[in-house]
This record gives sequence, C-alpha cells and structure tokens, in this order.
Amino acid sequence: MNIMPNNLGRQFSLHAQEYEEKAVEILRSGWYILGKEVSAFEQEWAAYIGAKHCVGLASGLDALWISFRLLNIGEGDEVIVCANAYIACVMGISMNGATPIFVEPDEYDNIDAEKIEAAITPKTKAILAVHLYGQSCDMTRIMEIARQHDLRVVEDCAQSHGNHWKGQTVGTFGDIGCFSFYPTKGCGAFGDAGCIVTNNAEIADKFRVFRNYGSREHYKNEIVGANSRLDEMQAGLLRVKLKHLNDFNAERCRIAARYNLEIQNPLIQAPKIRPGADSTWHQYVVHVPEYRDELAAYLKENGIGTIIHYPVPPHLSEAYAYLGFKKGSFPIAERYASEVLSLPMYNGMTEEEQSYIIEKLNIFSNR
Ligand SMILES: *Cc1c(COP(=O)(O)O)cnc(C)c1O
Repeated sequence: MNIMPNNLGRQFSLHAQEYEEKAVEILRSGWYILGKEVSAFEQEWAAYIGAKHCVGLASGLDALWISFRLLNIGEGDEVIVCANAYIACVMGISMNGATPIFVEPDEYDNIDAEKIEAAITPKTKAILAVHLYGQSCDMTRIMEIARQHDLRVVEDCAQSHGNHWKGQTVGTFGDIGCFSFYPTKGCGAFGDAGCIVTNNAEIADKFRVFRNYGSREHYKNEIVGANSRLDEMQAGLLRVKLKHLNDFNAERCRIAARYNLEIQNPLIQAPKIRPGADSTWHQYVVHVPEYRDELAAYLKENGIGTIIHYPVPPHLSEAYAYLGFKKGSFPIAERYASEVLSLPMYNGMTEEEQSYIIEKLNIFSNR
C-alpha cells in the first residue's frame, strides 16, 4: 500500500463536480477580482466563524503581517509567540520590524500561557495565539493576561478552521483572527488565499482599503497599501468547500478517534487535548521521544508517508540567526522538533488505509 501524508486529490474527488461547475461559472462570468463571489464568501465565512466581519486576502501570511501593520505594531515593539510556531507566524511579526518574543509550548503543543507574563516587557504590544495542529490555545488565560497588560491579541487560525475554546469558535477571541486557505488547510483553496475576521468594523474597513492599494475608489488612494486581494475563483471554490467543512472536520475527528484508540505502542505518544479545547485535527501529531527518525524511515519503507511539523524551530532557522539565539535557548520547542511526527491525515482516507497504518505502527519496535 502507498499512503501519502496528505491527499488533496482524494478530497477533491469527493465533490469534483461541484468544484468544476463553480469554476466554469466563474470563468464565464468575465469578472475575476473583488466581485460577488468574494463578497458572498466573506459573509459566509464570518457567519461560520461567528464574527461580525471577514475580509478576504491573498494568503495567511498577508493576514498576519497586515494585522500587525494595521494595529501599528512595528519597529521597537515586541510580539509574543510560541517557540514551536510555523515560520510564517514569526515572519508575520518581523515583516513590520517588530521583534518576536518566543515562549515555550506546553504538553498540548500550544503556547504555555503560564509562561507568557514572564516574557512581557514595556515594549510588548501583542500576543500572537497560534492554534497549532487544529487545537485551540487556552484563550481564557491569554485574554486575561492581555487585558491586564493592555496587549492586543491576534489569533493565527491557519490550522484551525472551526474549532473551539469552551464552545466559542477560535478567531473570535482576540482583536483579529487570521486564516490561511492554503490547499492543505482545513478549508483549503485551489491556490493561495487567506482572510481575517474581526468584530471591529473600523479594523475590517482598514483591511478592505489596505488590501486594494489603499483605495476604496479607483485611483483615489487614501494610504499606502498592498495588493492582497482574494480572487473570485478562489472565493467561489472556497464557498463550495465551506458547505462541506463541518463534514470534513467531523471525518478527521473520526480518523483521529480511531488513531487514539487503536495505536498502542509504548514508543508513540498520542496527541493531548487541553480540557476546554477541541481539535479539528488539521494534523495528527504524535510525539516519539526516542526513535522518531527510525519510525519515519520504517513507515516510509512500508509505503506510509509522514511529515515533521516542524523540524527546525524558528529561533534556530537561518532566517532568524540575527536574533542571536542558539541551541538550548528554547529546550522544549527544540525537543518537540526532534520528536514530533504527523501521521497521514486527510479527508477521503479509507478504513483499509488506516488499518494498515495502525498495524504498522503497532508492530514497530527499535530494532
Ligand atoms: C499555513 C500557515 C500560515 C501561512 O499561511 P499562507 O497562506 O501559506 O501564507 C501561517 N500560520 C500557520 C500556523 C500556518 O499553518
């Protein structure tokens, strides 16, 4: 058997005809940028998440850096982020000249909220709460700290399309919720796409102007903006995806539940879910403290693909060498980088495929 870590073709084939019809409809419409598909998707996404406003953008990274830009966070300011984040989270902060301040993750693979206060300085302006792997951060504690220290909160929901903290959808706790619709994400587009949600009408308005060269009307530019528009094709196809998103999320929950129940190997630790959080299982990330690389190689020999999210923590990447960190600066994040492994997880996985993966995992031993 040959099983990829992710299989986008499988998800596409579940509703191929709906996507194809929508694509043709948009091709024939003669209108490709900022039209009725984008407006409709923005309303539908805001309603799905439970936010007042949504603004479509070109990518998840754009959602992040434009958020900090519009919150006036830049040179000389500090933003707190988990040390095991995806590199894009950190770039979203540093692109405006602000400094990322790393805080170690806890046993749930998300930021350890109890370590945030120790990282706050007079320069701290915001917390970037990254809901990693599809699991919500402890938003109660994060919002409480933010209120006490007058910090803005931006949520990175790129991997968390529709999961909750204590029943409330993530993306609606902070000032701005940022989403990526990169093809592998929960509600994935067929190219690059992203958006923000917010309950603040003024912030939403700023995004609408900024994404389109700082203009509301053609050739009347109010501010220096960027080109970060969601296009009609992606918006239209995302509207089709959104109709099935609850089903996609439920299917991945079923796959995760079976992994939780049936993977029984003392070398492999199941993901832990924080009480109060739920997960949409963007990834199923196990910890393998001793033989991670051996396990990945063994699975590969058996036709099973895995991915490491992420092998290099941002503070040790070449891009952030200028921050001056070294090995040992964030030992928990570094340990996680050496022990995490994402098992195959995608919509359309068959029971036989999952049985095969589980069987191979359960007979793995350090040879
Ligand atoms: C994918 C991702 C991003 C970046 O999104 P793009 O659309 O690829 O720019 C940011 N943060 C997290 C946590 C992500 O997973």
